[in-house]
Amino acid sequence: MHRHLSRFTNILKSAFFPNRCMVCRCLFYLPCNRSTCSEERVQNDLHGAFLDLTAQFVCHSCTPRFTPVESPVCEMCGIMFQSREGEDHLCGECRKTPKKFTRARAAVVYDDFLRTAILGFKYRGKTGLAKPLENILFAAFVHYSYENKIDLVIPVPLYIKRFRQRGFNQSFLLIYNWMGKVSNSDHLNPFQVCHRVLERCRQTKPQAGLDRKERASNLKNAFTLRNPSAVFEKNILLVDDVYTTGSTVNECADVLLQGGAKRVDVLTLARAM
Ligand SMILES: [Zn+2]
Ligand SMILES: [Zn+2]
Repeated sequence: MHRHLSRFTNILKSAFFPNRCMVCRCLFYLPCNRSTCSEERVQNDLHGAFLDLTAQFVCHSCTPRFTPVESPVCEMCGIMFQSREGEDHLCGECRKTPKKFTRARAAVVYDDFLRTAILGFKYRGKTGLAKPLENILFAAFVHYSYENKIDLVIPVPLYIKRFRQRGFNQSFLLIYNWMGKVSNSDHLNPFQVCHRVLERCRQTKPQAGLDRKERASNLKNAFTLRNPSAVFEKNILLVDDVYTTGSTVNECADVLLQGGAKRVDVLTLARAM
């Protein structure tokens, strides 16, 4: 009864108070037949679940512009292969130089559209986007985490000066409510969210646009482990907003593994292709 009532109020609310699209800023009405994104749905139809989740904060014309990352992808770095047929396998790059992390996965493709959303969230203070983007990332987490147990979720840290300028670490905001969500689940193993284990001890340049050698020197000794005993023998999931060259998460994974972590996986909201 209560559920029907709250559904009814939701319908009324959306009829009188349209939402503003977080991307193009137009006004739109929420779909009345919103389906919930159960774990089962996320497991079996991730694409559909993403569309439902995005329909709650972007308008009908913007929703289809989100492109989910779908197989076949590289087993290791998660890049989507141009050919849309066949199984996941290692890409040439990962075969030549294997990554330190075991597997990187992302929810959606980092295209112009998603860039607008993420830049708005990071630099223009649209922190209202944190919640919907978190829901999308969490759906991807549920989808990919069934295969191995995660003990510790760590957001990629910001340099303290950058953190003070921005006022928040976007990667931490994206996982802020995860523990609560997991405690309501029958299937997901509990884990800890830890944002103080890994530290970025100096400012680095953006990795995009640097060549391989510059990237390596840019990140050299940029991260330190503050508490090695916290990561010892742990299965770790590193979370970031965007995977571009992968060198930042790879460097973090290296530091964590050298500190005794058992395995490091990576999950990002978006993946540059
Ligand atoms: Zn829109
Ligand atoms: Zn690869």
